Amino acid sequence: MTPSPSNTDPILPGATIGILGGGQLGRMMTIAAKRMGYRVVVLDPTPDCPAGQVADDRIVAEYDDIVSAAILAETSDAVTIEFENIPAATLEAIEPNAVVRPGSGIVRIAQNRVAEKTFLRDSNVPVPAFHAVTDLDSLKNALLDIGTPAVLKTASGGYDGKGQWKLDSAEDALAAWDELAGREAIVEEFVALDKELSVIVARDVHGTALCYPVSENTHANHILDTAVMPAMISPNLAKQAEALAIGIANALDLVGMVAVEMFLTQDGRLLVNELAPRPHNSGHQTFDAAVTSQFEQVIRAVCGLPLGSTELYRPVAMANLLGDLWANGEPDWQGMLTMPDVKLHLYGKAEARPGRKMGHLTATGRTPEEALERVQESRSKLE
Ligand code: AMP
Repeated sequence: MTPSPSNTDPILPGATIGILGGGQLGRMMTIAAKRMGYRVVVLDPTPDCPAGQVADDRIVAEYDDIVSAAILAETSDAVTIEFENIPAATLEAIEPNAVVRPGSGIVRIAQNRVAEKTFLRDSNVPVPAFHAVTDLDSLKNALLDIGTPAVLKTASGGYDGKGQWKLDSAEDALAAWDELAGREAIVEEFVALDKELSVIVARDVHGTALCYPVSENTHANHILDTAVMPAMISPNLAKQAEALAIGIANALDLVGMVAVEMFLTQDGRLLVNELAPRPHNSGHQTFDAAVTSQFEQVIRAVCGLPLGSTELYRPVAMANLLGDLWANGEPDWQGMLTMPDVKLHLYGKAEARPGRKMGHLTATGRTPEEALERVQESRSKLE
């Protein structure tokens, strides 16, 4: 029987889940799935990838290798992704013969900033002012409308601040245009930020959506540095952020998970920056402090099972461990682990390069402020 993506039959433990992408998100999804009794097959170009180390089987292939993706689909009862830069065409190719969640339509939106912002604006979601940029004239016209400062971003393929230029003047725009080298792009107003927030939502096959408490995030060099749940914002604002995120999951008609990254502006407005239709770095805390981790939750959603509680046992904070920490040799794990309430997560990556996400720490506290202080203190012990 050919499964259909609209099928609401549960895919029960013992079945096989295929994951496209074998990085740390795939690894933590695999751990959650294995804990529930599923088998997991991971497709990734790197043989010893983080998820491949814990999965039952690996397919070593590029993400645009449709034959290998079809083998993954054939072997699996459901296929999901660990990141949105899996080519939508790969998902499209396997969709007729597999349960693929999220579907290619959602991934296609999330992997192109112009499509994403247009979808959000059309869904009445507040976003920063933006224009698509296809040539130098459209860039000039966009800047005339938006003014400076502005941000130019490649429409696809950029992450962690790569492919982004802040434009303070016409000269900046010309220089950035040269570097863009003809790639499709978007230009956005530069938002005066108070905070960066994210809300992670799971939505099941029946359309029930459930979100985690809002996470408050800080970045260093455009890479997520710390994330705290719940965010240190008013209950009213948290409700607004959660409603916004759930509205987006519904508008996407998602089955799976979406992380909605938002800006809180200095004048108190919420603007949506980006969608990630999968678990998110700002939800890693849920592994240690929520009734259901985001990794278990996405498996439940993809497999058509009821969603678990998103309640937190305690406020919790996460700090990323980047490869830079290894600059002077192995970090002092033993010293850090003298803090008994701190949890260490390492992703099994052999090579520590600057800026590369190698692992993270989580700490809980009586308050979000205390959790954040604890996790920062524990990370400083590693240096
Ligand atoms: P992104 O790749 O869109 O997630 O952007 C990475 C980071 O750049 C964000 O987390 C913000 O810190 C910053 N950023 C992106 N877009 C804007 C914007 N329009 N205004 C101000 N800061 C931005």
